[in-house]
Amino acid sequence: MYSVRECPVCSNATFDNFGKVKDYTVSHETFQLVKCKKCDFLLTSPRPEDSHLGAYYLSSEYISHAAKATSLFDKLYGLSRELATRWKLTLVKKFSDAQSPSLLDYGCGTGFFLKKMKQNGFNIAGVEPSPIARTTAEQITGIKIHEDISGTKSEFNIITLWHVLEHVSNLNDLLDQLKNRLKQNGTIIIAVPNHQSEDAKKYGTTWAGYDVPRHLWHFEQKTMTQLLSRHQLELIETIPMKLDALYVSMLSEKYLAGKQSIMTFTKGLISGVRSNLTATNKNYSSLIYIARHQ
Ligand SMILES: [Zn+2]
Repeated sequence: MYSVRECPVCSNATFDNFGKVKDYTVSHETFQLVKCKKCDFLLTSPRPEDSHLGAYYLSSEYISHAAKATSLFDKLYGLSRELATRWKLTLVKKFSDAQSPSLLDYGCGTGFFLKKMKQNGFNIAGVEPSPIARTTAEQITGIKIHEDISGTKSEFNIITLWHVLEHVSNLNDLLDQLKNRLKQNGTIIIAVPNHQSEDAKKYGTTWAGYDVPRHLWHFEQKTMTQLLSRHQLELIETIPMKLDALYVSMLSEKYLAGKQSIMTFTKGLISGVRSNLTATNKNYSSLIYIARHQ
C-alpha cells in the first residue's frame, strides 16, 4: 500500500481522517479517505501501489459496459449512454470554433464518444491504458489508440477527460502533459464526481461516487479550481451532468441493500431527481469543468 505524503493540490503534508469507504464492486476491501488540512482536498490514502491497481478493475460490472445489453438496467444504461454522448457532442461543439477541430479524448474507454465526434467532423485521437477497451476502441473508431499520453505528439483544440482524472495516479504530471498538448486558447473539459453534491451528502460513505480504490482523488469546485490554476488553466465554466445523479443514486441504493432490485432502482431514481432539484451553488452529482490554456 502507498500513503500519499503531499497534497497534489496545495503541497501541504498534513491530513485529517475523513472516513472509511468500502469497495462494493470488486474487492469488498475497505479504504481510508483523508482530507488535506490546508485546502480540504479529499483523497484515498493509503491506496494500492500503481502496479496493483489494475486488479481492482477486474469486475463484470466494468466489463459489462462493453458487452451486449441483457438486463433492463443494461438496456437503460445503453440508452442513457447514447443520450449522454449526443449531449457531450453538443457541449464540445460549443467550445470548438476551429474549422475541423482536433480532439484528444484521454481515457477513451471503448471509443463510443470518439466515434461520435469523428462522425461529426472532428480530427480524433485517443489514449486508453486498458488493453481490452483499447482494442474495442480501435475497431470502433478506425484509428490507433495510444496506451499512454507519450504516444500523442500533436497539439489539440480540445482535450476531454470524461470521469478519468479521478483514476489517474500521476495527477500533476498528467495535467502538465495535457496542458502542453493544448493549442493556444485550446479548451480542456474535465468531468468528475462532486462529493459536495446532495446525493453524496445523503449516502455518506456509501455514495457510489467514491468508488474506492479506483477513485484516488475526490474533487469539489474549490479544489478543482485550485488544481487547474496550479497548471495555468483558467476555469471558464462549470456545467452539471444531471444524469449522473440518477445513475450514482441507483448504485448507492444497490450497495445499501446488498443487491439490485426494482426497489433500489426506484429509490435511486427518486433520490437522484431530488439531488438535482435541491442542488445549490452548482453542487450537482458530477460536474464538468471547462478550462482554457492561459
Ligand atoms: Zn491541500
